[in-house]
Amino acid sequence: MKNSKLEILAPAGDYSALVGAIYGGCDAIYFGTDIFNARIRATNFSLNEAQKAIALAHAHSKKVYITLNTQLFDKELGTMLEYVSKLHNMGADAFIVADFGVASLIKKHYPQIELHISTQASVHNLDGANFLAKALGATRVVLARELDKNNIEFISKNCDCETEIFIHGAHCMSVSGQCLMSYAMGGRSGNRGECAQPCRLPYAINSSSAFFLSLKDMSLASHISEILNSGVTSLKIEGRMKNEEYVSGVTKIYRRLIDEKRNAKAEEIKTLGGLFSRQGFTDGYFQASINKSMLGIRTDKDKERSRELESKPIELERPMVDMQAELILGKKARLTVSLGEKKVCVEGDTIEEAINAPISKADVVRCLSKLGSTPFKLGKIDVSMSENIILRISSLNALRRSAIEKLFEVEEKAEVAEYDPPSLPIPEKIKTAVFLDAGQIPKNSDYFDVVFLPLDNYDSLANGVMMPPVIFDSEWDEVEKKLKDARGRGAEWALVSNIGQIERVKSLGFKMLFDYRFNAFNRPCVEFLMKQGAQNVILSPELMLAQARDFSAYSLVAYGKLPLMTTHKCVLKDTVGCDKCKGYITDRQGARLFVIGISHHRNVIFNSVPTYMADKLSDLKNHSLHFIFSDETQNEAYETIKAYKEGKAPNGSFRRIK
Ligand SMILES: [Zn+2]
Repeated sequence: MKNSKLEILAPAGDYSALVGAIYGGCDAIYFGTDIFNARIRATNFSLNEAQKAIALAHAHSKKVYITLNTQLFDKELGTMLEYVSKLHNMGADAFIVADFGVASLIKKHYPQIELHISTQASVHNLDGANFLAKALGATRVVLARELDKNNIEFISKNCDCETEIFIHGAHCMSVSGQCLMSYAMGGRSGNRGECAQPCRLPYAINSSSAFFLSLKDMSLASHISEILNSGVTSLKIEGRMKNEEYVSGVTKIYRRLIDEKRNAKAEEIKTLGGLFSRQGFTDGYFQASINKSMLGIRTDKDKERSRELESKPIELERPMVDMQAELILGKKARLTVSLGEKKVCVEGDTIEEAINAPISKADVVRCLSKLGSTPFKLGKIDVSMSENIILRISSLNALRRSAIEKLFEVEEKAEVAEYDPPSLPIPEKIKTAVFLDAGQIPKNSDYFDVVFLPLDNYDSLANGVMMPPVIFDSEWDEVEKKLKDARGRGAEWALVSNIGQIERVKSLGFKMLFDYRFNAFNRPCVEFLMKQGAQNVILSPELMLAQARDFSAYSLVAYGKLPLMTTHKCVLKDTVGCDKCKGYITDRQGARLFVIGISHHRNVIFNSVPTYMADKLSDLKNHSLHFIFSDETQNEAYETIKAYKEGKAPNGSFRRIK
């Protein structure tokens, strides 16, 4: 059974935002620590601060989820395991993880820990959610933000774990976890929490320049009644970069809407807009109404509205704890502390008879009520004590401290596990290539063992299909039909792009190459993916050559323009139109990015320059090689393959794998 009570999950970029989240009335809070989370620029918490934060949240009966939602390199996994055990022991209720390697390591070493799989894992369908529940023991999956209400409901009502959706806050233009734009344009990796948000800049299509990649913030405040019946467990408010005022204000409104089981009124939407908006809000994805009204930027008018808001300082009411002390001669001192339904009992030193100055009841009460350094205040206190006894004040202090500590203790502590890099199976070395259209495939394409074409325009010139990067459940019938058709026409391989595809592709008898879209950064991730039956895995293009050396025979993108973004909203639709769903956008430096619609007007936006390694192939000799052809003509593809056969030096602009 799913939780019948909807959870409001609020962000905390720092301690004051945490206070705001509690004040606003959330049920749970998520925050990152100073390493390994997708908001490196947020203030975040050190381990010491995290301890304090968890204690405060728990004192107020709020759950705490730690975000650990970046892709990690092997050398970071030891520290990761140490952090996770410490934070777990501090009482963190769950970890939000994006990297399949990190998730499988946590499950292996700390099976008792609750795992939530981040929206960075791009879960768009029921198979994806169920796969993560089964293969990684995830108790919750954060669904992709592009899903509409019918698909959200279908997954939530049918999957083997809880689902969480974003309800308010900033929108990424790219499908989360499928964005290389910030990395490729300036070396700041979105997958590593360093996104520089190049999507918020203007781009030109033909001669008109505008903010084609900047989405308004989302708000589902007008859809609460639908969400209440959707089977979703948790509603996430985005905003770990936002301040206390924003977090408390937004949380408070959603608290009211959920409690009163109703949609927001115009006045409440206005308040939300004042807290922060980019030319208003969008519910385009949720409503499956995808058009240019979803685009927006932060204007002076928006800022003006925010300045008009009055801010009041927030002070949290301290929760009350009740105490019961028993100081009986000859027995150990006992203190019972209760917080709501939680009750803990600790014992201290043995009570002795006083020789001269016995301790008074007033002394005991005074000492036990010193709760200034805790999140609590004293409620009822009941002291039963023998006459004429002595107990040192330091012993009483220790008793109080250990009782308060015990309120936060976890039942099953985790010893720090050491990271032991797994030894990987060595796959057969292969050369593979993606073409977007059969007309691009040149006659020297026998250089490749496998040639992939997109499933939508598969042709028997290719022996592999490239899976669409995003498949909603409502699209599976059509996809499955095309897959069977391609299989019948000679497709033996599938370039699998998402965990939600593995089962069906496998059951149709395809050999599987896992695309770079799985974000394989580390050995446990590759190990996990190979266990799912892959023949080979294309490593993340974000790995440097020195890092890739640990992955002998695994595949690298050796040639081609990297796909920078995969968008659910068609970039071309509202400008040059969708006739061919193909075109270019130009950035402020004049770099031209090729855009193409692949299925259902979802777009892939490619880098302006190709990765080129023809003259550096000795650096890649231990690897399988993957080529991506995007806007190359057949002749250009021919020349490229020839250049790789001959080890030719590049001409024109290019990027290297460093
Ligand atoms: Zn289109």
